Amino acid sequence: MQHKIPIVESDPASRSMASAVESCVHCGFCLPTCPTYQELGEEMDSPRGRIYLMKEVLEGGLTAREAAPYIDRCLGCLGCVTACPSGVAYDELVTLYRARSENTRGRGLSSKMLRRIILTTLPSPRLFRIAMQVSKLFTPFRKMIPGSFGAMLDLVPKHLPSAVKLPEFVPAEGRRRGRVALLAGCAQQVLAPEINLATLRVLSKNGIEVVVPVEQGCCGALAAHTGAGEIARQQASHNIKVFPDDVDAVITNAAGCGSGLKEYPLWLADREEPAQKFAARAMDISQYLSKIGLIRPPALARSMRVAYHDACHLSHGQGVRNEPREILAQIEGVEVVAIQDSDICCGSAGTYSIEQPGIARRMGQRKAQAIIEADAEIIAMGNIGCMTQVENHLRKLGSNIPVKHTVEILDAAYQS
Ligand code: SF4
Ligand code: SF4
Repeated sequence: MQHKIPIVESDPASRSMASAVESCVHCGFCLPTCPTYQELGEEMDSPRGRIYLMKEVLEGGLTAREAAPYIDRCLGCLGCVTACPSGVAYDELVTLYRARSENTRGRGLSSKMLRRIILTTLPSPRLFRIAMQVSKLFTPFRKMIPGSFGAMLDLVPKHLPSAVKLPEFVPAEGRRRGRVALLAGCAQQVLAPEINLATLRVLSKNGIEVVVPVEQGCCGALAAHTGAGEIARQQASHNIKVFPDDVDAVITNAAGCGSGLKEYPLWLADREEPAQKFAARAMDISQYLSKIGLIRPPALARSMRVAYHDACHLSHGQGVRNEPREILAQIEGVEVVAIQDSDICCGSAGTYSIEQPGIARRMGQRKAQAIIEADAEIIAMGNIGCMTQVENHLRKLGSNIPVKHTVEILDAAYQS
């Protein structure tokens, strides 16, 4: 796409954004893969349309306020990045653009309040737990609370698990094969602490010792993807400082966090070397287990059909598609079954289900329906956001299919 975006030498973001825009050749291959284009059928709600809008704003021909509704409806699912034959870095463009336009786009009072609540509570397990406990008091009145605040209540679990303090160190069982650090995640620690415990047990079982840095903080993905670029930079710098260097990998078990860690060089363009070093060590648990070679768990007592849903930030964001399926298939007795449109977003997308509840609800319903049609006994995935959204919509459709993280299924197999 031809453009007149001013490129400032001292501003690497301007170069990255201009480069993404100029590599788009308008072919439209990305359009059928874009959930919002599928849903709304508008060019401006497609990747190509959004690239055009961002170009116009960066050139000064359109205000950020005019473009905001279309950019806000982008899930950041990165389906378009996978589909694009020209290698357009839409992911970089939209992240940098959101940070650049945040101060000029104009937000209403409720949007500002919502954003403040999200950015304050979600990155802190302590505050998020309090927010969940307070929100629980309002759930009986859910029907009377519309829009984003109502959608927030849908995410409150019926039973909030007790807080779990993770050990700072877990030794390897048997012969030591490696040493890793674990990023514990924020919301996940509150909503499903069992995922981290299962991750620690599985790594130890596979001969891997694990350190869990106590001073670690939020990965920054939430801030980066909601336009709070400076907060994301601070969170990334903090993690680079507090994670140890003497590990083979920094393990994540939430797709959004893993994808965020891999974006550190983009957010910290002025600290490229440490950011690149850190990002290169970030690895999803399924990718790491595949790399070291899984110690096979015992066969299940009875066979089981397990469906697998691709979290966008694992499949499109990190290119991790086969590894979780291969891990599940190595459990003797597990039959991995496909679900229709497995790599189409479920509508969770970080805070999207709160900020765009209408579209997110329709996507969640479609995903839940596809899972029910797969006729599996368990649905597996690798991201807490997807798990919450999928479980919410499965229950609304009357399905009791258990929603599990891939590593929880593996852990249960080791313990069987
Ligand atoms: S990130 Fe997803 S929603 Fe956004 S333009 Fe790309 S495919 Fe569409
Ligand atoms: S597929 Fe790539 S090059 Fe083609 S319109 Fe979409 S973003 Fe542009």
